[in-house]
Amino acid sequence: MENCVFCKIINREIPADIVYEDDIMIAFKDIAPQAKVHILLVPKEHIPNNLYLEGRHKSVIGHIILKANEIAKQLGIAETGFRLIVNTGPHSGQEVPHIHWHLLGGEPLGRLIC
Ligand code: 5GP
Repeated sequence: MENCVFCKIINREIPADIVYEDDIMIAFKDIAPQAKVHILLVPKEHIPNNLYLEGRHKSVIGHIILKANEIAKQLGIAETGFRLIVNTGPHSGQEVPHIHWHLLGGEPLGRLIC
């Protein structure tokens, strides 16, 4: 998708610190980390946000969620725990309209829900 920053990273038009990649997804360090470890897990297909997911995406979603565990282990944050977040739309603060999972960890994270 033209002008999508994550598509540009996927297409190597702009650089990123990539920690994992396969045919379905890419994972790279967030440029403005909100935790000691902050990785973005991004499908290669341009899907604007969670509301655009269809039945055919089930395998992509499952793949990314399972890879999150592997990447967390790879980065040494699995044992201590981590958080996966998907922002959707304006009220969530979603900035980049290409669906992505934030993988946050490496230090205690504040509670989001009391
Ligand atoms: P959102 O707010 O859309 O859920 O999250 C978008 C995330 O993408 C933000 O945490 C932001 O720091 C990150 N981000 C935006 N532009 C770039 C970029 O060019 N490179 C990288 N690595 N991360 C980016």
